Amino acid sequence: MDPNDTTSSPSRRAVLGGMGAGMAAAAAMPGISPAAAQQAGGAAAVPPQAAKRNPLTQYPKPPFPQQQQEPPGLASKMEPRPDHGEKSYRGAGKLIGRKALVTGGDSGIGRAAAIAFAREGADVAINYLPVEEPDAREVVQLIEAEGRKAVAIPGDVRDEGFCGQLVARAVEGLGGLDILVNNAAQQASRQSILDITTEQFDSTFKTNVYAMFWITKAALPHLAEGATIINTSSIQAYEPSANLLDYAQTKACIVSFTKAMAKQLVQKGIRVNAVAPGPFWTPLQPSGGQPPDKITTFGEDSPFGRPGQPAELGPTYVLLASQESSFVTGEVYGATGGNPTP
Ligand code: NAD
Ligand code: MG
Repeated sequence: MDPNDTTSSPSRRAVLGGMGAGMAAAAAMPGISPAAAQQAGGAAAVPPQAAKRNPLTQYPKPPFPQQQQEPPGLASKMEPRPDHGEKSYRGAGKLIGRKALVTGGDSGIGRAAAIAFAREGADVAINYLPVEEPDAREVVQLIEAEGRKAVAIPGDVRDEGFCGQLVARAVEGLGGLDILVNNAAQQASRQSILDITTEQFDSTFKTNVYAMFWITKAALPHLAEGATIINTSSIQAYEPSANLLDYAQTKACIVSFTKAMAKQLVQKGIRVNAVAPGPFWTPLQPSGGQPPDKITTFGEDSPFGRPGQPAELGPTYVLLASQESSFVTGEVYGATGGNPTP
């Protein structure tokens, strides 16, 4: 799963045109059957991400290699590398001309959203921490390969001043703002409340809750009717793990924030929704989000017996960002691999 693969770039597409770029892209996907690849490249031109497959076996299952990184971690150092839809996502013009800001857009779920948005025709600004520059560079290349504008804005969202600058720089770089994805998060596993310092508690809330408040507040004057906000919550909002006491609370905050903001903004024609993922294979987990001994079996507790891959959420962010979900606001979209959400 090499994100530098150029299968989807315009020049490579032209080269592959004779054999059907969809088929080539699908054939390059691990675990995809020749039949599904053929379907993906056939006359009906089913996009690779929509080719019929068995979700149980579609992506890698535990056991995974033991691995640890310092937070926030890099997708490029994970084994196996997460699939963010680099090779599989094909757009259909659902976001042509839109301008999107995605926090945590360098890796994981935010990267999947950023790639999918660009392939749907949007210009995309991404925020991330400066140490994540290598991951961010890959995303910028992928956005630019679509002929879209990419604006890279590194910085720490725990700082209110930076959150204001982030929005201002995104608006300036993109020429406006239509889609805001509040997705950045900190997750630090601790077995006991006695192990959670005030510093950690504060940092988790600043990253996951305050930043969403500050960025949304700064963005609002720039959002016109038809704009959309998507916040990344978690199944942890409803089914908190004992070792994620502070993190789980922030994810519950995000659900309440989403529902109240949806009510505030409905008369402006702006919709606000959230996504609640279950376990996803992203740098958040092997960089302190889980106890080190839980990485090799990560995702095995989901009914699918595997973690989700970020690529499995790109289409969800597109749906919620686009006009196709025009009657949906204040909603929380679960993608948990089968663990029920309320
Ligand atoms: P990820 O590590 O790829 O993304 C999180 C991003 O947050 C990082 O890339 C980083 O850029 C950003 N970030 C962290 N601290 C920051 C700070 N102080 N300033 C600026 N940016 C900062 O992991 P992910 O799993 O894709 O996380 C994306 C979202 O998905 C998060 O909101 C997370 O809570 C949520 N989520 C993840 C899972 C999962 O299992 N991976 C499950 C449920 C919800
Ligand atoms: Mg990252």
